[in-house]
Amino acid sequence: RSSAGTGAGTGAEEGAVGEVAEVFARAHGGDPAGVWAAPGRVNLIGEHVDYAGGRSMPFALPQRTLLAARPREDGRVRVVSAWAPDEVWEGDLADVRPGSDGGAGSVEGWAAYPVGVLWALSQADGPGWAVGGADLAVTSDVPVGAGLSSSAALTCSTALALATLTGHADGPAADPTTPEGDALRRLLVGAAVRAENEVAGSATGGMDQQASLRCRDGHLLLLDSSDGSVEHVPFALAEHGLAVLVVDTHAPHRLVDGQYAARRAACAEAARLLDVPHLARAAEGSSVGEVLDRLAAAGADDVVARRARHVLTEQQRVADAVALLRADRPADVGPLLDASHASLAADHEVSSPELDVVTAAAREAGALGARMTGGGFGGSALALVRTADEEAVAAAVVAASLAAGHPRPTSVRAVAAGGAERLA
Ligand code: ADP
Ligand code: MG
Repeated sequence: RSSAGTGAGTGAEEGAVGEVAEVFARAHGGDPAGVWAAPGRVNLIGEHVDYAGGRSMPFALPQRTLLAARPREDGRVRVVSAWAPDEVWEGDLADVRPGSDGGAGSVEGWAAYPVGVLWALSQADGPGWAVGGADLAVTSDVPVGAGLSSSAALTCSTALALATLTGHADGPAADPTTPEGDALRRLLVGAAVRAENEVAGSATGGMDQQASLRCRDGHLLLLDSSDGSVEHVPFALAEHGLAVLVVDTHAPHRLVDGQYAARRAACAEAARLLDVPHLARAAEGSSVGEVLDRLAAAGADDVVARRARHVLTEQQRVADAVALLRADRPADVGPLLDASHASLAADHEVSSPELDVVTAAAREAGALGARMTGGGFGGSALALVRTADEEAVAAAVVAASLAAGHPRPTSVRAVAAGGAERLA
């Protein structure tokens, strides 16, 4: 897989732009009006808290999804992905229907993600969002279904493309560092989330889309999901001789959808019992222990209490991690990663045997900390390592996984890359 996505104007990037234009030409004929890119992401810490109004710290990966687009006037949508370049999904935007109760809508298969974005944008408030249709083509080097958010890379690249084609990303709005640019990206996050939740029928709390659209090169995105506000925290590991390894377990996902909804519901129940808008903020001004006592007194059952304990302690770990990073002590974040994993496994119950084996093996081989990352139940783990130990850790997770009868995991070094942008 190429990891050359960050260097604007590099040969690798030109090659990738040419490739998506070729997929476009083969499916739709002619040239696209432009090419946009949006990254996958990995979350350093602050897991399973976005739907509880908590803070998380994702960063964008160099792996990205490229989307070539050309507007249409006739209300038709045609989409193609390089993974099946001869299968073009085609339909009328006016026929797209969202699903009910978290189920999928009227568009079947992967096309629900980009088509869902067009649908969601045409529902957006404000002038000019009436999308007249589009021809779209997709290529990607984001691993699919690995918990690195290939779905957000797809919806966010589509959203930015459509915003540009409808004239919403002109002038200062084209620049993500301006207030106009950030406001646009916040609106696009909403459309991408609606596409995933309502049209693709896939549960997502919003962190992935925030990361894909709002991350900055070399920075973590300290995202506050209670109000969508962000801070960009410098994340310079190399100068400390450190690296983050992302380990894809290649384990099949199990029962993810119902489990995710159940975690959300338990956190909503805890917030209701505590009478707070955001569970993750409930311990501000008091302590986690005090909030858990109140929750017990309000009649929470054991499961709700443990889910709440995960969210509340994870928020404390995020605060501690921010303080350490600001004090230029990134190596000391390691134990917080270990504690995060323990909490996700025992209290939130979203880990898997594969993730537990990988994280334990990484620690044993010298990682400073390791945890599952993303939604869990399979997918990827991350490990904070000294660069000198990188190869040993990568080898150890393979050996331990194979010894446990699990699939062979693959590791890549993750560096903090930039958010979605126009490439051509
Ligand atoms: P993750 O976001 O962790 O990779 P998801 O299950 O949320 O996993 O999203 C994966 C889905 O997103 C795929 O099954 C497919 O429907 C869609 N998808 C992602 N990338 C692409 C792509 N390059 N081409 C077509 N569909 C894609
Ligand atoms: Mg996803």
